[in-house]
Amino acid sequence: MNKCSVCHRKTIRKDITYTQWYRGELVAVENVPAEVCENCNEEYFSPETVDKLQIAIERHRSYKTIQVPVFQLL
Ligand SMILES: [Zn+2]
Repeated sequence: MNKCSVCHRKTIRKDITYTQWYRGELVAVENVPAEVCENCNEEYFSPETVDKLQIAIERHRSYKTIQVPVFQLL
C-alpha cells in the first residue's frame, strides 16, 4: 500500500483509463494499472507503466476511436 503525495491518504490499486494530449489529439489508453488516492483521486503509475504508456501512444496504432463531449464554463 502506498500513500498519496498530495493529501497523504492511502492509495488503492485500480485499472484506469489514462488520457493525455498527444500531437493535438486527446488520446486514451484503457486498462492501465495505477495506484489511485481514495481521497483526491490522484493517480500514480510505476516507472514501467509510464514507459509502456508512452510506447503505446507513440508507436502503436489505436484500436478504436470514440467521440467525447466538450463543455464550456459559462
Ligand atoms: Zn490524495
